[in-house]
Amino acid sequence: MTSVTPDVPKHQKAKALKPGSRRPAKELCSECGLCDTYYIHYVKEACAFLNQQIAELEAIAHGRSRDLDNEDEWYFGVSQNMMAARRIEPIPGAQWTGIVSTIACEMLERGLVEGVVCVQNSPDDRFQPMPVIARTPEEVLAARVNKPTLSPNLSILEQVERSGMKRLLAIGVGCQIQALRAVQAELGLEKLYVLGTPCVDNVTREGLQKFLETTSQSPDTVVHYEFMQDFRVHFKHEDGSIEKVPFFGLNTKKLKDVFAPSCLSCFDYVNSLADLVVGYMGAPFGWQWIVVRNDTGREMLDLVRPLLETQAVSSSGDRRQAVQQSIPAYEKGVTLPMWAAKLMGVVIERIGPKGLEYARFSIDSHFTRNYLYVRRTHPEKLDDHVPEFAKRIVGQYQLPDS
Ligand code: FAD
Ligand code: SF4
Repeated sequence: MTSVTPDVPKHQKAKALKPGSRRPAKELCSECGLCDTYYIHYVKEACAFLNQQIAELEAIAHGRSRDLDNEDEWYFGVSQNMMAARRIEPIPGAQWTGIVSTIACEMLERGLVEGVVCVQNSPDDRFQPMPVIARTPEEVLAARVNKPTLSPNLSILEQVERSGMKRLLAIGVGCQIQALRAVQAELGLEKLYVLGTPCVDNVTREGLQKFLETTSQSPDTVVHYEFMQDFRVHFKHEDGSIEKVPFFGLNTKKLKDVFAPSCLSCFDYVNSLADLVVGYMGAPFGWQWIVVRNDTGREMLDLVRPLLETQAVSSSGDRRQAVQQSIPAYEKGVTLPMWAAKLMGVVIERIGPKGLEYARFSIDSHFTRNYLYVRRTHPEKLDDHVPEFAKRIVGQYQLPDS
């Protein structure tokens, strides 16, 4: 009698790369974690830096790719609805009001999912990411607040398949979610929910240290920071105090090489492939910004509606001149003296772009910078790597010739 061995999926025969070894995307690797698993088998198609395929994956995830003739979709991706929201009772220690953690906890409590991919911090370093599959609300809450560093969230994907889990929520940033969407069909899941956050200017753990030491007066006590809609970086310290540093006072010369090359070549700021996106940049100060991309995203948001206060999104000001002026200023590494930076911050806060226009300001400034970075460092990738929506955004501005 011959024994029949069940077919082992091809990817399970692949071998994860060793920690610290060079990744297929080389210096552009964002350490998303895929290559730490046997799903490296799919890396050539799945890696966001080897095979940009946002429009194709949008069509699979949302049923269509974004409508480039609709300004909101052109900038913010496929959406059914956008709003500003905040938890009526914020979660202490969350990055903003904790909407992300709240949705994840509700989904576990109601049995919609068996596990949540999220990122806690290592026991001895609050900023060192430690991806986990949380199975209880307590484990989700232990992952609250940003780890503002590259995080290998997908490194737990093998555990997902081995566990036999069928219903999963993944929380992550754009590059992680692009790779996840590309291998989604191979995970053996019945249902995958994807809750994304926008992401920009991420750094390695060493880069973060340099940023904190260059920018904060007390780098060791920072528990949390954010580039805020008032054009200042807000550092929250262990004692609860808030230190504010105007964007225009940042030491751009010293900080130029601090951002990871992956993030300097990323055009998925708004997490195009998540079902639901929760950020802040399109909302008034103190509020979070929500983009519902599809029915799955709506289902997730509806679970927590009674816990939220909401308002319509709004938009005012005109970002274009500020973006155009920021291009040569960044190129030359201009840093204003602190008094002038503070003054400029006050003026621009009063008359500058707000709401969705602030979000467009941030997208335009980052996309023009990143376009120039890719054009200089990887000219051979420029055409395929930059999505059409980003080419059109960058095309609104005059860029230096070289
Ligand atoms: P919380 O309830 O505190 O939950 C935070 C969740 O984020 C946790 O579930 C955790 O698993 C996850 N997480 C933490 N660190 C990482 C990481 N490194 N990679 C993947 N997942 C992580 N929003 C904007 O509107 N504009 C921006 O420019 C912007 N930049 C960001 C940059 C980074 C590096 C990150 C991680 C997020 C960024 N966001 C940005 C999103 C924003 O800062 C908040 O994370 C979001 O609004 C959710 O807040 P919350 O209070 O609901 O989250
Ligand atoms: Fe692998 Fe992710 Fe790095 Fe691409 S970004 S090389 S998929 S770990």
